[in-house]
Amino acid sequence: MSVRVRFAPSPTGRLHIGSARTALYNWLFAKHEKGTFILRIEDTDRERSKKEYLQTILSDLTWLGLTWDEGPYCQSERLSFYQELAQQLLNKGNAYYCYCTPSELALKKEKAVLEKKPLRYDGSCRKLTSTQRSIYESEGRKPVLRLVCPENVHLTVHDAIRGEINFSTEVLDDFIIVKSDGFPVYNFACAADDHDLGITHVLRGEEHLSNTPRQLLIYRVFGWVPPIFGHLSIILDENRKKLSKREGSTFLDEFRESGFLPEALLNFLVLLGWASDENKEKMSLSEIVQKFTLNGVTKSPAIFDFKKLEWMNSQYIRELPVENFIKLAIPFLEKAGWAADGALKTILLSEDKKERLRSLVMLYRERVKRLNEFPVLTRYYFLEDIPLEFSTLKKWADSKGILFFEEFLKKIQDAFFTPEVLERTLRDFVDSKGLKAGDLIHPLRYFLTGQEVSPGVFEVMAVLGKERTLTRIQKGVLTLNQLKNPA
Ligand code: GLU
Repeated sequence: MSVRVRFAPSPTGRLHIGSARTALYNWLFAKHEKGTFILRIEDTDRERSKKEYLQTILSDLTWLGLTWDEGPYCQSERLSFYQELAQQLLNKGNAYYCYCTPSELALKKEKAVLEKKPLRYDGSCRKLTSTQRSIYESEGRKPVLRLVCPENVHLTVHDAIRGEINFSTEVLDDFIIVKSDGFPVYNFACAADDHDLGITHVLRGEEHLSNTPRQLLIYRVFGWVPPIFGHLSIILDENRKKLSKREGSTFLDEFRESGFLPEALLNFLVLLGWASDENKEKMSLSEIVQKFTLNGVTKSPAIFDFKKLEWMNSQYIRELPVENFIKLAIPFLEKAGWAADGALKTILLSEDKKERLRSLVMLYRERVKRLNEFPVLTRYYFLEDIPLEFSTLKKWADSKGILFFEEFLKKIQDAFFTPEVLERTLRDFVDSKGLKAGDLIHPLRYFLTGQEVSPGVFEVMAVLGKERTLTRIQKGVLTLNQLKNPA
């Protein structure tokens, strides 16, 4: 039998990073087994489901490359299917209408709490006569449909990750399967669809484990064979707390917008609860597909290590071909404002300028952990006028090097602007003046970039080109002199 798995997000929010891992595991399992990966949209919560969320979920999955072989099936478009099943249950006496109002249910709950009894629906509507029902109907009460929960039945979940888990129906009650608006509840629609779509394996988050006995009951009343379940461990932050918004990014679009590459995210996500036999960390997607089995999935909680994610991303960034890097960096440069007035277009259209941009990328490809760092680190390249802070310039106010900048400028005026030539020119120059290389290099770096940390200053000079280098040195010296001798 060929494997059929599904990812079944509810469009009640953006795609959470934990759900992205669930989608990935299902996708990988399908690919490894040469099976089918199905997308199902669980949108039966009419108040909380939103079109915008569905759009971001679909585009995030596409961005990650987790494309589906079938679907998306939307539960809201399959209402008649659930209604028909509900009718079958009613006919067989496995379900009944319940007219209890929310306030009546709240009273029952209060009573149970006082009597220290479990919070289970007491089944009071199970045996309503048709007269009682018509009275309720005439009062305008809208009923829900409840499943009759059998007494003392043992349910076993065969969990591919956790082993056998046993439940007794003692812990359940006659739970609702269809709401008063006619929409099925999650457990009912989910079991019905998993069966109808021929799902062989349900891989989902551990938080759904408590739903599984209810779904098994639904399989049981219909006489369906349940799929194999696999409940994935919870993802915790470094303090072993649930990943929360406050601690940083939790939604996939945030990772995307801060410059993580999909390949890196996938590689990182797969390691949150799965390891290959050799415990290898960085793997290509095809390698992961080839190695991914449920045996490697662990049940202990996964710890989300943000630093590791950044490390993983930097590994993928440094392997990007320069042209791809540029393509991927463009939205980040645009967002930073570096593309204003067609600046970026001008660069991309001129072969000479583009060649410089390539050199710039080569200088930074190994330095950025996320693509959104690139515009910040290279702003000096994209902006003509870079601000110099007096507070930083002050450092060099009394330094020896400053006195020699005019002379140094003349030396490089005719130099060939390659890092090697520039370095030789500077070193010869400082030797002849009895200076240390740092006497020139440190202020020079600041004049050119407005930053005290950068890649090699000679490489920076070469990518900036002669004209901009000379202008910036002149401006730096001038500003420094103004600082020393305010007018
Ligand atoms: N709609 C559920 C969720 O988003 C899916 C649960 C399941 O996979 O069964 O969590």
